[in-house]
Amino acid sequence: MSFSQLGLSAELLRAVSEQGYERPTPVQKQAIPVVLNGKDLLAGAQTGTGKTAGFTLPLLQLLNETPTAPGARRVVRALILTPTRELAAQVHDSVKEYGKYLPLRSTVVFGGVGINPQIERLRRGVDILVATPGRLLDLVGQRTLDLKQVEILVLDEADRMLDMGFIHDVRKIIALLPKQRQNLLFSATFSEEIRGLSGQILHAPVEIEVARRNAAAETVSQLVYPVEKERKRALLSYLVGNGRWKQVLVFVRTKHGADRLGRQLEQDGIDSAVLHGDKSQGARTKALEGFKNGKVAVLVATDIAARGLDIDQLPHVVNFELPNVPEDYVHRIGRTGRAGANGEALSLVCQDEVKLLAAIERLLKKEIPRAQAPGFEPEFSLNTRNPNPPRLSTRGAQRPNESSPRRKPQSATSRGRGNAASGAKQGEPGRRR
Ligand code: AMP
Repeated sequence: MSFSQLGLSAELLRAVSEQGYERPTPVQKQAIPVVLNGKDLLAGAQTGTGKTAGFTLPLLQLLNETPTAPGARRVVRALILTPTRELAAQVHDSVKEYGKYLPLRSTVVFGGVGINPQIERLRRGVDILVATPGRLLDLVGQRTLDLKQVEILVLDEADRMLDMGFIHDVRKIIALLPKQRQNLLFSATFSEEIRGLSGQILHAPVEIEVARRNAAAETVSQLVYPVEKERKRALLSYLVGNGRWKQVLVFVRTKHGADRLGRQLEQDGIDSAVLHGDKSQGARTKALEGFKNGKVAVLVATDIAARGLDIDQLPHVVNFELPNVPEDYVHRIGRTGRAGANGEALSLVCQDEVKLLAAIERLLKKEIPRAQAPGFEPEFSLNTRNPNPPRLSTRGAQRPNESSPRRKPQSATSRGRGNAASGAKQGEPGRRR
């Protein structure tokens, strides 16, 4: 699915494509049509899912469809409330960025800075106001702000707003708005309190929920191994064997790919099982049991098949192929390292996947560190930002009974392993193509 299929106008599509977004994220896919339809929305989505564009794009479109007459005074038609000033500033940046080809005006107000410049900007007239609740009420108190024409209200990160004690402020603000309006509520969690609030504010809302980004996404140690496509399997066998991994969930993109990889790993002497949509319930149960009780070291799965698994806190997750949707990456790595447990998420990335990696890094707002295993160095570099990724010498430990000119002799952790790694067909050391 593309952004144009969502019914967005040419001006918005242009701004989106300038951001480098190729496809809408799951929350965007679901939220944009609902908002364009004029419906109220209750969305379970947290930062990193692309939620901001999910409400900003359709909001801009709706306002632009019924523009203020030229020369007429602009009044606030869309109000976006956020719990913190950082978020307010960030959301306003998105409003400006996505709306840059539309004749709409916006501003942002929050506490902790002088109020006078904000009053001045409001006096000049804006269509869209991004605000934190406290400062907004201060401005209302000074009679510099009229909220009687608000058509769309967005509560962003509503759960945080409640946690921070803004509930009374939010209620006061809502009392100042016209009854007839469209309401969008975004929250990472759906607590009783949030349910209560949405019951009072939203009218027959459409509910959407994109699977929560796990806190682990921030704490899991993530690494990218740039590697030639045809050497991924050998590298995987090497990593599993060399690290003595006992439980690793490996993600692949297709059922066929899952079957093939499972077979190849078995040939490499690694006990594996495969899970995908075409497997019978019996095969599925057996695979899972084997994996849970330690008989099977590697479970190869597609995204869909892995979704319903009730296993998490895995020590290792490997992306044998990157997912097409960046958010799926976050789901995948959320399987490891929960609640402070040590977890590693490794991605084997070939040159064809550099765009997918770039999209993931944009979503995470950070570059994932690169690592290399000796003998598997590729001829290309993954230029998502930095053309020469650093070699991480502490990773990709030495292969048994082998030394590399770049590295000290074997580390203690990799010495004398008579396990699958040594039996694996690993490709020749230092081979170059
Ligand atoms: P948010 O969850 O709204 O804070 O967005 C998280 C990050 O994802 C931001 O840096 C956005 O620029 C980025 N982003 C939003 N939508 C997309 C998309 N469709 N494709 C790639 N990146 C996106």
